[in-house]
Amino acid sequence: MTNLVNVRYLTGFTGSAGAVVVWVDGSAEIATDSRYGVQVGDECSDIAAHITRAGRSTLNARLTATGVSAVGFEDRHLAVADWRDLGDDLGWTPLGSTVDQLRMVKDDTELGLLRKACQASDDALAAALPRIRVGVTEREVARWIDDELRNRAEGPAFDTIVASGVYGAIPHHQPTDRELADGDLVTIDFGARVEGYHADMTRTIAVGQISDWQREVYDAVQAAQATGVAALGPGKTAREVDASARSVIVDAGFGEAFGHGLGHGVGLQIHEAPFLGTTSADKLEASVPVTVEPGIYLPDRGGVRIEDTVVVHADHVERLTTTTRDLLVVG
Ligand code: ZN
Ligand code: ZN
Repeated sequence: MTNLVNVRYLTGFTGSAGAVVVWVDGSAEIATDSRYGVQVGDECSDIAAHITRAGRSTLNARLTATGVSAVGFEDRHLAVADWRDLGDDLGWTPLGSTVDQLRMVKDDTELGLLRKACQASDDALAAALPRIRVGVTEREVARWIDDELRNRAEGPAFDTIVASGVYGAIPHHQPTDRELADGDLVTIDFGARVEGYHADMTRTIAVGQISDWQREVYDAVQAAQATGVAALGPGKTAREVDASARSVIVDAGFGEAFGHGLGHGVGLQIHEAPFLGTTSADKLEASVPVTVEPGIYLPDRGGVRIEDTVVVHADHVERLTTTTRDLLVVG
């Protein structure tokens, strides 16, 4: 394995350089350089570690010495040049998304970390909310959220999005010095990271009095989000869950304004399998966390997105982010 997220998943090693061989019996060997000599011993003491600047050739030599006939490799993550360097005498076999599929279903420890990350996210918003009002800038709001996330977790899981007024039409808008104005909708997309596990949530809040079209858009997104969460369950296809939420927005007349997929898995990455969307081939199982995040984006006018991280269980759906989805209004 050469993808560091998968290396972490399989071994617990969190360094920024390393590669792992997993043997058929489940044992493993890891190679990393001297910067991580102590860390690798602490984080994965049960795994043989090679401390070297020539990690891949060291592992290659180990594979050659054992006379294996086929070795899986991460074709979705290895650069073409690095793949050529491997040579062709070990029976390299593309793994495709095998490890990503393994990562999709979470164990209790992973779900516990996601619960903590989501709780920290809810708490961070609650703590920052009283300071959000007319005249403060998007950048200030983002900084307050980020500070609150750092006080409660490792920090932000990704770059916090604060999109006010017309910028609400840009799903991944980066915060600017624009000041919030009366009548703005403000989309705040953020999350905490706990021991490498990512929370992801979005609330769109109102500053002062909003108009009828804004309320109509908000209500459509809120209804779509509830429908999407209700459609989740083991055995459901990603496509049918997306379609059920999407139909609410289409019926409200905003189908063209919902351009992205309904949601995605979360874990050691902020976006990982399964992907809920119109072209996804993924299928849900129990113990799979996903986001549900419909949105409506109207160019030159604004937008609304509401997102929660939830977990699909055998017989119910658990909401990990629990801040109200009813419209929050600030002064
Ligand atoms: Zn998000
Ligand atoms: Zn998301």
